[in-house]
Amino acid sequence: MEPNQPTAQAIAIQGEMIIAVGTDDEILTLSGPETQIIDLQGQTIMPGFVDAHDHVFNDAGKKDMSMEQSQQMALEYGITTLANMYNPPDVLDEMRAFQQAGKLKIRTSLYLTYSGPCGEIIGDWHKDVAPTRNPGEMLRTGGMKMTADGGVCGKAALSTAYPDGGFGDLWFTQDQINQIVADAQAAGYQVAIHAQGDRAIEQAQNAIAFALNGKPNTYRHRIEHNPFARPDLLSRYSEIGIVPIAFGAYPTCAEIHDSYYSSFFGTEPMPYLENWRAFLDANPGLPVAWHSDWPYASMNTFLNLYSYVTRQEVDTEGNICMPPEWLASHAISVDEALPMMTINAAYALFRETEVGSLKAGKFADLLIISDDPTAINPNDLINLQVWMTMVGGKVEFCADEHASLCPRTEAAASSGPEAGAPSSSGISASASLATDPPENAFDGDTETIWNSGADPDQWIQINLGKPTTVSAIRLVVSQYPAGDTIHQIWGGADENNLTLLHEFNGFTQDPDTLEFKPSTPLSNIQYIKIITTQSPSWVAWREIEVTSP
Ligand SMILES: [Zn+2]
Repeated sequence: MEPNQPTAQAIAIQGEMIIAVGTDDEILTLSGPETQIIDLQGQTIMPGFVDAHDHVFNDAGKKDMSMEQSQQMALEYGITTLANMYNPPDVLDEMRAFQQAGKLKIRTSLYLTYSGPCGEIIGDWHKDVAPTRNPGEMLRTGGMKMTADGGVCGKAALSTAYPDGGFGDLWFTQDQINQIVADAQAAGYQVAIHAQGDRAIEQAQNAIAFALNGKPNTYRHRIEHNPFARPDLLSRYSEIGIVPIAFGAYPTCAEIHDSYYSSFFGTEPMPYLENWRAFLDANPGLPVAWHSDWPYASMNTFLNLYSYVTRQEVDTEGNICMPPEWLASHAISVDEALPMMTINAAYALFRETEVGSLKAGKFADLLIISDDPTAINPNDLINLQVWMTMVGGKVEFCADEHASLCPRTEAAASSGPEAGAPSSSGISASASLATDPPENAFDGDTETIWNSGADPDQWIQINLGKPTTVSAIRLVVSQYPAGDTIHQIWGGADENNLTLLHEFNGFTQDPDTLEFKPSTPLSNIQYIKIITTQSPSWVAWREIEVTSP
């Protein structure tokens, strides 16, 4: 995964850092009495994925997820560094609070919003927030983000006519965008310009060339998405030194079944739409970087890799959608795609000396995966799985069935207790996220939660240790989004023969308190089980309090 050392037998990690990569013998000489030696049985280790552009934190709500949940999903896909791309002032505040609360587990760069998806101008408020470049920092202000054309709001600005009329939406004139980029550069900012259509890409290229004025792109100004890079624009990326950010997953099924792209954009631009083969051929050596753009496209890293390499897609029934010949010819190789998804994306974030490859002196941001992507049939890339995700030497995700391969570190080292298995505390649950175990619902702290990580029905149960008289049960809601819920309280002396004590049925929201206070205290209660049968959210509780008279 380093150009001059593509494979290695062993890796040594100390604290947050990789201290050596080499043969088994070389690495074993470094071990001491406290060293954990883990034999991976020949399993593949690779650097954590770096997603150069997504919306994991600002758009989690669009997928009915909390920021913790979307972050957990990214960790399970092996993403250890990312850039969150929509950050107006309130999101910046929210991200800082998230980090201060100790919840940020993925190295995150924020690009501060100059203009939004509809071209609405938020302004140069970013000038009060200096970009940061501290090695290994978890939260970085990376630079400024602006939008040259439509895509999410309005349409990509094309030079070819849309079948339903028009040429899409450019938000600025060339003079305006030149000035905005030059201003941000003069203040020391890296600029990331959203440009989908070829007219917007051309404008963004011109603006970066204007600001750089013939000098090298030491600011690493980027163009985001680049789907409609017209053939005559391709070599300009290298000529100007622009850092391009490229989509991975291609909607092949929708295109071959419903002409998803060609009926919307017209057939004319199809030969160059996301044609990364032509893009790389025209720009040898340029650090082209991958982005998922989640939730607007899939965050599944191995699906993205599979799509880059085969342009195939698997539909919901498991059928493979084969690309027509013209589309298949746009594919790139695994050896080209993996650097885009790791070291090149790290370069786009000024983090290539910290992460993005496995090398002594870099942070131990790495994955154990189910097979070697460079050795398997490309058709099988989609079946690859992440077994462990480590960020800065801490295991942040470990697949239950491969727990023996995961080093024991201070962070959560497994996906929580097996469903239903009571822990020593007498607390059990139907399912749990590794980060939010059931004990968190009984720790007296409403800031820590139990989260099943799953939709209803889900349950959590406590064994009080002996038959007890209960005068009240209070539940503090953890729920996103708000909505109608049904929660049942069951109790009794025999775990296998509980009685329904109460049902809450109604609208709830975070952080409501639901209280059940029977008219006379209930005696002989040893087990209390809360079953949620309806909720718009993953089932979770901030706190469950049981009171005795
Ligand atoms: Zn985006």
